[in-house]
Amino acid sequence: MNLRTIEERLRREHDLPDDFVFWAWECFPSGSLTLYVEFRGGQCPRIMRGRRAGRPNYRKVANKRVFNVPVTDADRWEDDYERDTGKCRQCRGSRQELSKINFVTDTTEYRTCSQCKGSGKMRPGNSTNQGGLNHEHENRVGG
Ligand SMILES: [Zn+2]
Repeated sequence: MNLRTIEERLRREHDLPDDFVFWAWECFPSGSLTLYVEFRGGQCPRIMRGRRAGRPNYRKVANKRVFNVPVTDADRWEDDYERDTGKCRQCRGSRQELSKINFVTDTTEYRTCSQCKGSGKMRPGNSTNQGGLNHEHENRVGG
């Protein structure tokens, strides 16, 4: 799952303002197969100066919100993304996927995308229209 694809869809569907920032994601139920992913965020002004200029100022957050996205919805949204863009759902065309994030040292590492093997393109036969691999979740959780 590419969190950005889900975030963009949440932005559209809930008409979130430009300064709305997502800062936390958690899979539920914990310790077993994920049924839904919780997205948390809120409206944050930007930091104006210093090394972190332009980044969200989480200390001044307002209008916090929580969204619970069933994995079945996330799958369908990623199917939509691939169908609309023709790009790989995992790396969104960047050909790389996240390997490591360290918030203490503020470093992020990437590796070649495991889904598309670095092509950046959607796998043939992977879309819902063609009855692809991600079609087994027919029953929606919650509704
Ligand atoms: Zn990829």
